Formats: sequence, C-alpha cells, structure tokens
Amino acid sequence: MATPAEARVDLAAIRHNVALLKERAGGAEVLGAVKADAYGHGLVPTSEAVLQGGASRLGTAYIREALALRAGGITAPVLSWIITPGEPLDEALEAEIELSAADEALLDEIAAAARRTGRTARTHLEADTGMSRGGAPLAAWPGLLARALALQAEGVIEIVGLWSHFACADVPGHGSIDRQIDAFEAALKQAEQAGAAGSHVIRHLANSAAILTLPRTHYDMVRPGIAMYGLSPVPELGDFGLRPAMTLVARIALAKRVPESSGVSYGHLYVTSSETTLGLVPLGYADGILRHATGRAEVLAGGRRRAIAGRVCMDQFMIDMGDDPLAAGDEVILFGPGGRGEPTAQEWADNLGTITHEIVTRIGSRVPRVYRGSGT
Ligand SMILES: *Cc1c(COP(=O)(O)O)cnc(C)c1O
Repeated sequence: MATPAEARVDLAAIRHNVALLKERAGGAEVLGAVKADAYGHGLVPTSEAVLQGGASRLGTAYIREALALRAGGITAPVLSWIITPGEPLDEALEAEIELSAADEALLDEIAAAARRTGRTARTHLEADTGMSRGGAPLAAWPGLLARALALQAEGVIEIVGLWSHFACADVPGHGSIDRQIDAFEAALKQAEQAGAAGSHVIRHLANSAAILTLPRTHYDMVRPGIAMYGLSPVPELGDFGLRPAMTLVARIALAKRVPESSGVSYGHLYVTSSETTLGLVPLGYADGILRHATGRAEVLAGGRRRAIAGRVCMDQFMIDMGDDPLAAGDEVILFGPGGRGEPTAQEWADNLGTITHEIVTRIGSRVPRVYRGSGT
C-alpha cells in the first residue's frame, strides 16, 4: 500500500451478496442501487460486480450518476429517481437512462425532451404509498396515470415501471408495512384499470430489508442497496449470510514516545496516563471519520483494539499504543468484515448512533478504492 489510507473493496463479496439476494428474491429481477458512488464502494467497478452477481439493472438517485455509469462503459438498463425541474433530460434520454416521475409537470418535461430528441422516454411512475417522501400521493395517482397514458399514446413516453418505497421495512412488524403494501396494491389496481399496467410493466417495491424479510413484496423486481455491500439491513436479525465488502485501512504516519500526562489532539480530551507510544492515523473527518467518533470508535492495530485517543481532526487522529512495538508504516484497520478481530461497519454505526449506510457512504474521495476479487 503506497498511500496513507485506502478502502479495499472485495468484489467477490459483492457478487456473492447479489447472488444471495437474487436467490432470495425468487424469480424477480434485481436492480442494484448504486447511488452515492455505489454506497462509497466506487461506482463503476462495483456496478460491474453487481451485474456479474446477477443484477440485470442498476439504479441511481441522480441522472449525473447514471451518466457516469454510461461514461464508465456500463450498458445495462439504468433508472434514475430524483429529477429536479430544468435538468438536462435530453442527455439522459440519449444515454438511454430510464427516468422516474411522480408528478405531471415532470412527465411533461420528460415528454418535451423526448420530442426534442426523437427518443421514447422509458418512464417509471412512483406512487407514495405512505412514506411521504418521493412518489405521487394516492389522490394524484389517477391524474399521473392519465397523463402518462396520453403521452404514451403520443409515442413520447413508455410506461415501463410502477413503483414505491418502504419507510419502515427495516423494523419487522411495523404497522406501516402492511398499510404500504395495501396502498401499493390499490395503486397497481388503478393502473390496471386505467390500462397502464400491461404484462411488460415492472412492478417494484422492495429494498434490502424487504427482500430478506417480506417475500410477498418482491413483485417483478427488487431494489437492493445496503445488502449488496454485505451490510445487514436489519442488524437485530443477523447478517443473513452477507459478506461485508469494504475494509478501511490506514498506515501509521508517525509513532512517538510521549511522557505521562500528555494532552492529545485538539482540546486535550485525552491525556496519557503513563509514558506511552502514540500513533498518528492519517484519516479524519474530511475522509468520513466523523468527529463524533472521538472517544466512541475503535480500530485494530498490532492485533489489538485501540480507542481513538482525543479529537478526530480533519486529516488525522491519534491512537494510544502503550508499549507495543508499533511503528510508522504499520497497518491500522478501521473496519472490515470482522474476521481478524477488527471492528465492523456495523460496530461503528452502533457506536456512533447511526446506520451502516452512513458509515460507508461518507468515506471521502481522497481515499482510493482498491479492488480485490475481480473476475468471475
Ligand atoms: C437507496 C434506495 C434503495 C436501496 O435501499 P437499501 O435500504 O439500501 O436496500 C432502493 N430503492 C430506492 C428508491 C432507494 O432510494
């Protein structure tokens, strides 16, 4: 390793996880959610592994993420689901990116782009079945269907998907789950009656948690995110056989003896209790090691867990190595699959009061992603 730090991504683990999810989804198609730089794992190499693992489609939040997939040579169908007024939709249509719409104004923008480019816009209609985030409220759903059908009759759009998203699929037994499924069924029924749900139209609802715990929500396609990266969508139910793909490592940049009662890092929140060796770990909050991890998170160095000693800074934090013979250049593991005694991303999330999605997506662009296990 020639850099201060790197995120090692095990592509074999990604392929394993996607294959496991595909199997759990029965016959449903798999759309891999690779937004946010494939949850921090690196967009293009990770997406290739996701497709090799058995996904037939990819999904991103933004169009620019989808265009980055195309620029990276990915030709599989891609859906983008967060589109704001005035975005350059022509470019998206020319790159054969499928677009989601939740209101008639956006459908009209998509249709205008289709007329300009001479392309038929492959469109997924999103219903809000109870999350109150994206999606058309059910009162607006019939209007959205009617508008989409009119544009489809004109030949400018093609309705290819009908979909929604769960608010609480990661909370087994949450009362909203059944209500959302019922609302989705009602939305599909209206689409059928309106003639917008032909047999080729893909119905999709399930995220990772729903794929693994709610088989009746698989429909025609599932949309895993976090589970593809090997992190449990419902940690209290275990790991489901998933393998964490990312290992975050750094090399000690400086090791030095300091006397007892040395105040360490900004604010002197940590004070040495005896003469000791401090190690400087060259990762900080600019790299996604939250300042909030001060005093809360641990790393593995020299085969032992060490607490972060004092404040996490922008580019670095310190660990107290006692009298252990650690030196500059030695490797520190912040998190990984856990097999060598290192903390997991789940442990970081638990210690920081967050979810693993936030731990992996925040690893900054300054940290190179290094791939292992490529090839099928
Ligand atoms: C992020 C996202 C997913 C994947 O969610 P996970 O909980 O990570 O599996 C699926 N669908 C949509 C619309 C998303 O935004």
